[in-house]
Amino acid sequence: MTPLEYDRARIWHPYASLKNPPPVFHAKAASGVEIELVDGSRLVDAVSSWWCVAHGHNHPAIVEAIRRQSEKMCHVMFGGFTHDPAVELAEKLAAIAPHGLDRVFFADSGSISVEVAAKMAVQYQNALGHPERNRLLALKGGYHGDTSLAMALSDPDGMHTLFKGIMTKHFFAEKPSIPTWGEWNDADAESLRRVVDEHGGEIAAVICEPVFQAANAMNFYHPEYLREMRRLCDERGMLLIFDEIAAGFYRTGPLWAHSRAGITPDIMTVGKALTGGHMTLAASLASGKVADTISGGRPSAFMHGPTYMANPLACAAACASLGLFANGDYSANVTRIESQFREGLGALRGRPNVRDVRVLGAAGVVEVERLPAQSDISRVIREHGVWLRPFSNFIYSIPPLVADEATVDRIVGALVDLASAPPGPPPEDGDFHE
Ligand SMILES: *Cc1c(COP(=O)(O)O)cnc(C)c1O
Repeated sequence: MTPLEYDRARIWHPYASLKNPPPVFHAKAASGVEIELVDGSRLVDAVSSWWCVAHGHNHPAIVEAIRRQSEKMCHVMFGGFTHDPAVELAEKLAAIAPHGLDRVFFADSGSISVEVAAKMAVQYQNALGHPERNRLLALKGGYHGDTSLAMALSDPDGMHTLFKGIMTKHFFAEKPSIPTWGEWNDADAESLRRVVDEHGGEIAAVICEPVFQAANAMNFYHPEYLREMRRLCDERGMLLIFDEIAAGFYRTGPLWAHSRAGITPDIMTVGKALTGGHMTLAASLASGKVADTISGGRPSAFMHGPTYMANPLACAAACASLGLFANGDYSANVTRIESQFREGLGALRGRPNVRDVRVLGAAGVVEVERLPAQSDISRVIREHGVWLRPFSNFIYSIPPLVADEATVDRIVGALVDLASAPPGPPPEDGDFHE
């Protein structure tokens, strides 16, 4: 069997079947905004390899940081040990985090950091004598990861319905509908207020993806919604958790998406672009109030501790990535990408099969009635040399933040071509199209 044949027969890919699996490209190397295939051709990575490759692939500064650290120590357990990369990263994160979120828990992926944040909220309430506050309130249209607690906090009608039976039930408010650029109307938070009214006493924390509901709904909503959330949390003794894993690190314009609302959460999760897409790492950042309260409870220990916690290679990669963020003008580049997307994708409004075009920061989304056929998707990728991975009803690009003008022009060309293709067959009944 060739490697591709072996892959097809034996290896699961994300959200894919092993029977007649969708095609995959055979990658060999990657640098800058491009992925090189074994046949020598190159694809512009217009989805930043699931939104994490912020500075481009194999950035020399990050590669060098990993190499240098690997010569000293690749790993040591974090129970009973600490090391410079972890301490340096914690300091760097605290310096850029919203005010007061300077207590850090390192997790090995975004999903785990969400689990950790939720457990922090429950332990916090427990320490305050509120064991009955053991549910969370999340938003429809949200996505927080694939592990079971993170799944249970993601849209209940979304891709996780199959596992309803093994998931704890949490509370959900309707998806916010007023766009970031729209005019705020208080009615948008009515459902949120209603759930809090009815169940506030059972809720440990409210969790959401601030401003940008990414993987589930590609929905950009109004920051005023977050201010209402903060107000309700303060009023009813619930903690506020912002999941900045997708929206953070300049994706929507500012460093943190929630800063548009001028408020701070009690706990924040970061991941994806944290290492610039070089190693898997995430973190849950908590306020002193949360940490002190947990430490004053029984047990006073926070009850989580993964094997690879604070892996030195990943922490070194993240330190280098944060160094790049600190020394570059990412906001300016994102503003330029945003205007290129606005201009280039705007022409698609009103076209057949196009429901909506939405752009915020370095994220451009064309919502369609139905995705084009796989053959059209593959053709557009090949012809333009641009890697796109449409899912559900979305044709989109979330490019590396360093993509230059010519690269973004190429991406826009591919998106327009793909969104102009005829709608493909409806997804097979019961089949899942990520
Ligand atoms: C991707 C994502 C996660 C999950 O991160 P993993 O590293 O895939 O576990 C959680 N929350 C949000 C908002 C995400 O976009």
